[in-house]
Parts: sequence; structure tokens; C-alpha cells
Amino acid sequence: MSTIPGITLNSGAMIPQLGFGVFQIDPEDTAETVGTALDAGYRHIDTAQMYGNEAEVGQAIAASGIARDELWITTKCNNSHHGYDDAQAALDESLRKLGLDDVDLYLIHWPLPGKDLYVQTWKGFEKALASGKTKNIGVSNFTEEHLERLAQETDTVPAVNQIELHPHMQQMAMRAYDQRKGIATEAWSPIGQGKGLLDAPELEGIATTHDKSTAQVVLRWHMQLGNIIFPKSVTPERIRENMEIFDFELSDEEMESIAGMDKAQRLGPDPDEFDR
Ligand code: NAD
Repeated sequence: MSTIPGITLNSGAMIPQLGFGVFQIDPEDTAETVGTALDAGYRHIDTAQMYGNEAEVGQAIAASGIARDELWITTKCNNSHHGYDDAQAALDESLRKLGLDDVDLYLIHWPLPGKDLYVQTWKGFEKALASGKTKNIGVSNFTEEHLERLAQETDTVPAVNQIELHPHMQQMAMRAYDQRKGIATEAWSPIGQGKGLLDAPELEGIATTHDKSTAQVVLRWHMQLGNIIFPKSVTPERIRENMEIFDFELSDEEMESIAGMDKAQRLGPDPDEFDR
């Protein structure tokens, strides 16, 4: 079983750099799939109120028998629960579904700038942090502008910013900003949802050199950049394959070749425009 490295957050907490994401996993399949991931050695699960499968993630955690302090559980406050009180109530609801006393990381899922509530939501997150119901707080899909407002109007620097990031959407400026501010970058859709990326000739050449799959090459690229990732799969072989990324290293030349694949091409919505 691979040893997964940790990244130290600005709170002092250590998060496993590789985890398992459960977006778009049918609730009916979630408990079994998360169980497979935990058996394979994953100890970090990324879920969200929006995904509708927190209860099933909780079932898998309970069935695993793994000690709570060996697991890192992240969930996210849904877009419908922005606001000081609503955000705290949403965390209570997530904890009830997960069957946990606390989560390791609670994120604002999207800023929804049009609603102009994310500063109030963040103040609710600070309260939740003080209550111990979450050990760390962070954001997702925040731009520099949104983070600057939090810096000016609140007291807590987010521990992480979870953003769309893969070789076709490399987010160089956002990563550099996060780094300057001591915010860890989490990369969502790290393998570009498997669509239109994994058959790129640049990746196939590198994969052949290392006798790895193109998915493993991209996941390794993230590890070497220092990104926190949680690829999703419902296929047991792929769940295990996505962990086998610690027994090879990409050269500087290979890292540069992947850097050259950036197209600033989003798969998901633009955070400045997304408003639902
Ligand atoms: P991903 O990049 O992890 O891709 C998952 C897809 O890639 C799978 O459905 C499968 O089709 C394919 N795949 C997986 N392993 C493979 C392999 N070894 N070989 C070939 N194909 C493979 O996409 P994702 O699920 O969108 O992102 C990962 C996680 O990020 C999510 O589960 C979720 O936790 C998080 N996320 C967060 C946000 C956000 O707004 N904060 C948005 C999207 C995703």
C-alpha cells in the first residue's frame, strides 16, 4: 500500500495530499465505492451537501472501523445555504448525515458573487470553527477578488481554495496568489473528468516512458506541483490505479511538457458568473 504524503495547512493541520472525490457517485453506489477506496488505503474523502451522498459516505466510514483520527473528511456548504445562520445550520445537517461529531474541513462550495452573501457565510464558518464542529475552514471556486474581500472584512485566512485545475486549466495565477497568501490549492477534476485529456499524445509518451497510465501521469504531475487532489472513480481497478503514483517521478522536462498543455479551458462554470 502506498504512503500518501501530507500537506501542512495554515492552521497547522496536515491533510493527505491524495484523497477520493465522490461527486456524481450515485447514493446507491456510494457506500460500497467509498468502502473500496478506504480498503485501497485512501484516508481523505471529499464530499458536499450538493452531492446528496453524505449519509452513504457516513455509512462507509462507520462500516470501515477505521479510527476517526486517521480519516480526513471534507464537506461543503451548498449554494442554497449562504448566510451566517444558514451556513452553520447546513454544517449541523451535514454532520447528522455523515454521522460525525466534526469534519476536518468545511468549504464554501461557490462564492455566488451575485448574491453577495459570501462574507456573511464566512463569518458563520468562523463561528463553526470556534465551536469545534469543523477543524478547518476553506473556500472553493474563489477568485482573487473574493479572497481579497474576505481578507479585508473577516479575521480568518481560508486554509484551502478548491478550484478547477488540470493540464487544460492550469490556473497559474490563482495558484501563485494562493501560495503568496498561505492558502493551499486543492485541484478539482484533477484528470479533467477523464474527458478529452487522457489521450493527449504528450501524456501518452510520458506514460509509456514510466510504464504508467496517462491518468497516473497527470495525478503525479499534481503531486509534484504540490496540489491536493481527490480523483473520482467508481471502478475498483481505477480507484487502486489512482493511488499508485508514488513509485515514479516526472523529470523537469516532462513537467514542462505538461505545463505546455494549458488552454485555460474550463469544464465547469466560471465562478464570477455562476449564480445558482
Ligand atoms: P475527475 O477529474 O476526478 O475525473 C473523474 C472521471 O475520470 C471518472 O468519472 C472516470 O470517468 C475517469 N477516470 C477516473 N480514474 C480514471 C483512470 N484511472 N483512468 C481513466 N479514466 C479515469 O473529476 P471529478 O469527479 O469532477 O473531480 C474529482 C473530485 O473533485 C469530485 O469527485 C469532487 O469531490 C471534487 N469536485 C469539486 C468541485 C467544486 O466545485 N468544488 C467540482 C467538481 C468536482
